[in-house]
Amino acid sequence: MATTDTPAPTDFIREIIIRDQQTGKYGGRVHTRFPPEPNGYLHIGHAKAICLNFDLAEEFGGLCNLRFDDTNPTKEDAEYVEAIRRDVRWLGFDWGDREYYASDYFDRLYEYAIELIKRGKAYVCDLSPEEIRLYRGTLTEPGKESPYRNRSVEENLDLFQRMRAGEFEEGSRTLRAKIDMASPNVVMRDPVLYRILKARHHRTGDRWCIYPMYDFTHCLSDSIEGITHSVCTLEFETNRPLYDWVLDTLGVYHPQQIEFARLNLSHTVLSKRRLLRLVQEGYVSGWDDPRMPTISGLRRRGYTPEAIRAFCRRLGVSKSESLVDIGLLEHYVREDLNKRAPRVMVVQRPLRVVIDNYPEDLVEEMEAINNPEDPSAGTRKVPFSRVLYIEREDFLENPPSHFYRLAPGREVRLRYAYFVRCTGVVKDPQTGEVVELHCTYDPQTRGGDAPDGRKVKATLHWVSAKHAIPATVRLYDRLFLKENPNDVEEGKDFTDYINPNSLEVVTGCWAEPSLANAVPGDRFQFERLGYYCMDPDSRPGALVFNRTVSLRDPYAKVLKATLGQ
Ligand code: ATP
Ligand code: MG
Repeated sequence: MATTDTPAPTDFIREIIIRDQQTGKYGGRVHTRFPPEPNGYLHIGHAKAICLNFDLAEEFGGLCNLRFDDTNPTKEDAEYVEAIRRDVRWLGFDWGDREYYASDYFDRLYEYAIELIKRGKAYVCDLSPEEIRLYRGTLTEPGKESPYRNRSVEENLDLFQRMRAGEFEEGSRTLRAKIDMASPNVVMRDPVLYRILKARHHRTGDRWCIYPMYDFTHCLSDSIEGITHSVCTLEFETNRPLYDWVLDTLGVYHPQQIEFARLNLSHTVLSKRRLLRLVQEGYVSGWDDPRMPTISGLRRRGYTPEAIRAFCRRLGVSKSESLVDIGLLEHYVREDLNKRAPRVMVVQRPLRVVIDNYPEDLVEEMEAINNPEDPSAGTRKVPFSRVLYIEREDFLENPPSHFYRLAPGREVRLRYAYFVRCTGVVKDPQTGEVVELHCTYDPQTRGGDAPDGRKVKATLHWVSAKHAIPATVRLYDRLFLKENPNDVEEGKDFTDYINPNSLEVVTGCWAEPSLANAVPGDRFQFERLGYYCMDPDSRPGALVFNRTVSLRDPYAKVLKATLGQ
């Protein structure tokens, strides 16, 4: 089970549950479910729903089911089922043996539909989808009754059975609930319960050619599984009367639907339809592209499940929608990686340095601290030799007054090694670009301090040229330039807001030799650069890393001040 790393704050959902436990509703039981439709990969919004449902179960001594809401064979696929299971497990949650599929209930749902027909509460309608739409009315005008509304029970039973037998064309008939075409709630105007779809289902194959609609399936699946609190997002608020109508009309066990506001995250989209377009139209390399807000993308980027859970719990639940700054999520990632990520030295944009007074063949093993936040992480040896790489931006030939790093004549510390002083600059005769520095080192400063107490103003990371491993790093920026790309202006498409520079691939980087032992998925802090995660594209001798986040955390102070963290 997932650990409740941060105590979840109390909220209106927990208040409802506590009240229900006090009054003995559901015999004090708490049983929730996470009900994804396997038509896409899970994203950070789903993570919020997953945390909420599993946390509620754990906090109140209950259970949480994983249920695939697989009622639309044309959009769903077993690939998505697998990915969803993997992602929920990776997030740290365990549904035990309670993995269910709405499609497992197709027989029972069919029986329930027959029951509704027998009670005079459902009818077979011959209107086309377009006509149904026209008859439905609008928010301000009532709908019009279907001419097929008053068929006899016998005729409805006969037609519905023949629908199931495959006698009719797709779109020619539906089964509809007989409720109220004048209801102020459009959802209640004789909603469609079943449609004909001559499509193969990834689990039931060709057994069915009629498929139940979400509103009919969801409440009955909850009822069948003995769910107590059926938590969903706000857009289903108007569907709640239908949820209640189906269960009450059939007189079956009745869970309570509770709605909360969905998560919206800045600079990204969280609609599966849009995420699918990003993948299909090649804006990203796949569902697990590290720029995607999918769980698999965040994992590949280097986010930890702990950070995602901490973020979701911090958000809590509410009834009003808001746009959460993606920087807040990144804050939790930094906070978690700071505790757990080993430090290593990688030079991203190298500048060659020759230490003229260092013996040609000498190699010294410098002792480096793996994680100052975690003494148990120990130390490692990093080889030091005469030719090194440092970061190009750590040297300026004509430094402005606030630049304290290396410059001609100036002395700095090389981390875990020596003080070095820049004594010469080699330039490309054609371009004038600095291509190599010459330095001298002070042997007295081994380990990084001078016995005479003299100070330097900067400490640089470095790698030994002859020991370094070639590496590529992928630097990511926001996928969308617009803060809220869901807010699409007239005549535009959400893809118009895509950041054309969301990925920068930096080749020619050099990594310290200890990284030869890393495997894809391993996360590191590259000293002074940020947090990085080894990518599955990595090969021995050609390492590939994704930058998870930079080091700078604009939220650290804000959160301390406003949330008392
Ligand atoms: P989309 O709108 O992108 O198609 P969905 O809500 O239809 O997504 P489902 O697979 O049906 O996707 O979602 C499973 C569960 O996750 C639902 O209970 C849904 O309410 C919840 N969920 C989906 N998106 C979010 C979000 N952004 N924030 C919180 N919960 C979400
Ligand atoms: Mg949905």
